[in-house]
This record gives sequence, structure tokens and C-alpha cells, in this order.
Amino acid sequence: GDITTPTAAAIDGLSQHFPLCMQNLHRELRKNSHLKHFGRLQYTLFLKGIGLSLQECILFWRKSFKLIADDKFKSDYLYNIRHAYGDVGGDSNRRGRGYTPYSCQKLLTEPAPSAGQTHGCPYRTYNPDNLLSLLQSVGVSDRTLLQGVKEDVGKQRYHIACNRVFDYAHKAQIKKVKDEGLWSASELDLVLHPNAYFKRSFLLKN
Ligand code: SF4
Repeated sequence: GDITTPTAAAIDGLSQHFPLCMQNLHRELRKNSHLKHFGRLQYTLFLKGIGLSLQECILFWRKSFKLIADDKFKSDYLYNIRHAYGDVGGDSNRRGRGYTPYSCQKLLTEPAPSAGQTHGCPYRTYNPDNLLSLLQSVGVSDRTLLQGVKEDVGKQRYHIACNRVFDYAHKAQIKKVKDEGLWSASELDLVLHPNAYFKRSFLLKN
């Protein structure tokens, strides 16, 4: 596949490579045909980071918010998408560039979401039982792995838990690139950014 120019229509398929924070937003969006402001912002910047163009990103949200009429979409949502891409607003520094996709560090330190919001890092924002259910619902069900995740989050080692899940889900591919010397050690360092998680997953599986 090609990740340099993903389309709106490709996002459902690509979401298998997303870290839990973004998979969670994607699933909420598909379930409710809506996401609240901070979730939209987090997800929009992530999609920008995977290479989705502004036009495709607008199309993605327009189709995803299928219960919302065109005029309401234009008045309530369109500006924020364009703003994230630097197409409108902001100071001159940001114009044309917009905002940077959020790192794990940012997502792990911002104020926790309140009820009904889905943004942030689920390893931190979900209580352990709900986190394990969420992981199982996205196909992560190995008991030893889930036990490890539970211990990590108990010690507030949230991104270690995330990397543990990544390593498990890509075990065979990681072994292959290591055995064949295809990737350097630094290419297999801890993932510290949702976009790095995506990119590494995509490259390992394609
Ligand atoms: Fe997302 Fe980072 Fe949390 Fe993983 S550790 S779920 S990539 S914010």
C-alpha cells in the first residue's frame, strides 16, 4: 500500500495500524457519527500527520458526521479542520502549516477528559478494567499481555503498556526485520508519538 497520499476512504482500513488512542477515537466516531471538540482536534492532527490532505480530511469528517446537515457542518466544524491545517486563522507563523500532531507526552499530561469525551491516552484515562475491555474489543486478548498492561498502568507506565501491545501485535514482523538486519536498533526504539506508532506498524505490515 501507499501511505504517502492516503484518502478519506482509506482511513477505515488504515485504522488497524492506529495506536489505541486513535483507534478509540475512530471507533467512537463510527459508533456515534460524531466526536467532541478535543477528540476531533486530536484525531484531525493525527490524520494530518499520517499524510491526509486538507481536502481529504474535510471529506473524511463530512462523510463521518453523516447525521449533520451540510450547512451546520460548514458553520460548526469546517473552520476548525482548516485551522488545524493552517488554512485559516492563527498567527503568520502557523499559516500554511497549522498545528503539530500531539505527541504521547502531550496526550499523557493534558487534563483528563470528562464524561462523554474520548480524547487523550486510554492507557491513562481509562480505569484498568475498562482499559482491558477496550483492548479486547480491538482484538488484544492474550492474557499474559493483558496482565503486563495492567501492571504497567498500575505503575503509571502508560506508554510502556502501549509499546508492549505494539510489540505483541507485531511480534513476527519485528523478529523478521531483526533477524534479517533490515532495521537498525533505533528504528525499533520505544514509540513516543501516535504518528510514529502508525508509521512503524504500517511499514512492518506492508
Ligand atoms: Fe496513543 Fe501514545 Fe497513549 Fe499509545 S502511549 S495510546 S500512542 S498517546
